[in-house]
Amino acid sequence: MAKIVCVLYPDPVGGYPPRYARDDIPVLRGYPDGQTLPTPEAIDFTPGELLGSVSGALGLRRFLETAGHTLVVTSDKEGPDSEFERELPDADVVISQPFWPGYLTAERIAKAPNLRLAITAGIGSDHVDLNAAIAREITVAEVTWCNSISVAEHAVMQILALVRNFLPSHEWVTSRGGWNIADSVERAYDLEGMNVGVLAAGRIGLAVLRRLAPFDVALHYSDKRRLPPDVEQELGVTFHPDARSLAQAVDVLSIHSPLVPETYNLFDAGLIGSMKRGSYIVNTARGAIMDRDAVVAALESGQLAGYAGDVWYPQPPPADHPWRTMPNNAMTPHVSGTTLSAQARYAAGTREILEDFLAARPIRQEYLIVDGGKLAGTGAASYSVSGDRSPGSSGH
Ligand code: NAD
Repeated sequence: MAKIVCVLYPDPVGGYPPRYARDDIPVLRGYPDGQTLPTPEAIDFTPGELLGSVSGALGLRRFLETAGHTLVVTSDKEGPDSEFERELPDADVVISQPFWPGYLTAERIAKAPNLRLAITAGIGSDHVDLNAAIAREITVAEVTWCNSISVAEHAVMQILALVRNFLPSHEWVTSRGGWNIADSVERAYDLEGMNVGVLAAGRIGLAVLRRLAPFDVALHYSDKRRLPPDVEQELGVTFHPDARSLAQAVDVLSIHSPLVPETYNLFDAGLIGSMKRGSYIVNTARGAIMDRDAVVAALESGQLAGYAGDVWYPQPPPADHPWRTMPNNAMTPHVSGTTLSAQARYAAGTREILEDFLAARPIRQEYLIVDGGKLAGTGAASYSVSGDRSPGSSGH
């Protein structure tokens, strides 16, 4: 029998919801590239329920406990006295979500001699030290596609929120009781006609390009793998060989690359300083792709007209994290990939991975990041590791 330790975000402050804003969520037929939705043998939850918090337990409790396995669910994840770290020594499987990451560092992996599988209930396994997982032959899997469109929608929303100065205008009529049109519009523009780019045109980045195309903008991208020529042509998107060339060409930049050694702190004062004055950056990829203080300085000087995103480092960030209070930000907590719609998909995908693992069947290639002591499946295409600079090894 296996012991599964699951790190999830806390329940709402008002308690686990007795009812929801809507009665159902749309039923999807498949993902944009033809990949099938998760195919667990069964689910024990109603799609649309809150599954990503502790009481939701990703809908796994009945399935695991009736089969005799042990499921521990906790949000207490920081430091050696945390419940997460106390439960590690005999854990076979760890499940974590990027929104409330249970950082699985090399030190923690060393404290978990039985650990064989780390599941990311979501996408983005940089909270796991992939080098250490490779060395220990721990399988790392994530639920590819589960929230890619969720994030793309959030990125488009935040681009529009920044360019059109939505949040300050909203505050004028709500909390400030005003009707201050000039105050609201002195920083408001149309997106139409702007140069808009994505760094990385993978599942999310390409979905952002597709969603922005109808806004009549000039599209740009950079990626270590080029899109097929017919896709470039269909979108009229200009390819740039590197992040610098892309950053200099655009008014709005949306970041969608994984956090890997090459992207760690990529957007520093030099790169941000090379952009056009008044550029906007939206980052729904990972907080540590940015130099935290360079972002603050660029907003204060006006080099950046706005910064938005939902990813921070660490998560949760401390109360005095400067991104909470920097000017012209439209930050949210890490929520884009954990809508109720996305939760239904990644809870089902997590169950599918567990069913296969517990029955000693192969896990879908599409879900694999590390397997058999090397990058595998989707991980081999999208991730990179090098030396001891894997983001996980430095705690990111
Ligand atoms: P994906 O694997 O489909 O796409 C990643 C793309 O990045 C690939 O096209 C790859 O070639 C490219 N890439 C990799 N290294 C690069 C580099 N050094 N420079 C340029 N391009 C590079 O993944 P996805 O589903 O689009 O997700 C992308 C990232 O978004 C994830 O790794 C994760 O960090 C983040 N994410 C965030 C949320 C959220 O809730 N905010 C949710 C899901 C994913």
